[in-house]
Amino acid sequence: MAAVCLCCFAAASAFGWGGWGHERINGNCVRGLPSPLREYFASKKAVLRKHASDPDAWKYDDADEAHYHYLDIDALEPYPFNDFPRDLEEAYETYGEDRVKTAGELPWRIEAYVQTLTEDFSDHRWKDAVFTASVLGHYVADLHQPLHVTENHDGQLTGNEGIHSHFESGLVERYGDGMVLQVSSAVYVRDVFDFCMKAVRSGYPLVEEIMEADTSAGQRAGGNEERYYAELHRAVGKAAERRMGEASSGLASLIYTAWVNAKKPIPPTKP
Ligand SMILES: [Zn+2]
Repeated sequence: MAAVCLCCFAAASAFGWGGWGHERINGNCVRGLPSPLREYFASKKAVLRKHASDPDAWKYDDADEAHYHYLDIDALEPYPFNDFPRDLEEAYETYGEDRVKTAGELPWRIEAYVQTLTEDFSDHRWKDAVFTASVLGHYVADLHQPLHVTENHDGQLTGNEGIHSHFESGLVERYGDGMVLQVSSAVYVRDVFDFCMKAVRSGYPLVEEIMEADTSAGQRAGGNEERYYAELHRAVGKAAERRMGEASSGLASLIYTAWVNAKKPIPPTKP
């Protein structure tokens, strides 16, 4: 499988859950929002979906963009990452700025976008708020992709090269229609960084599971690509489904949190 995957990795790694998965995660978050946010964002669902992969496109024009899409935290701290600094400046002091930038700055990107969304709501810039929420959704989805929180992001350290695109694109595109995203009701997030670290900690143990699934699927597939994906799906399809649902739920909670922090402005009734 490695020969197939290495050539498609560069393209596929540009799409955290594949373009299709990102759209779905963004669109489904509406179900977790309370009224009146739910009605408003439901009317803007197409926009939420449309911009779900914009940050991936930004990478082509901005060399700095890529490192906002991941946090290879195990390059900096051992699991469960309890000593990982919440403050970016402190992280620079602890590990050196270059190491942090190489490992990625995804949680701080999410914090910044929650702040922007809060300001959009406060200023009643509803159109901007929908766009910001859509972009925020992209980063939240990336955070829930376990291979976005490890140095071994493409299985290159364990002989699983190509697993990144197999897991997030090949698997999701083949079996996504049958996946049911469980979206829970939005809850207020008191501490966005803490929310991010919880997502990192809950996703990280799946890295090893995904690598083992890839190895085993590769052995059973006997060179047959569809059989490989069927085996991969059997082993980690449910995990992918669960993480996508958690990403949708997390996005709903962060949108709700920004709205509460902006003192719950009433959305326009005629969007
Ligand atoms: Zn991304």
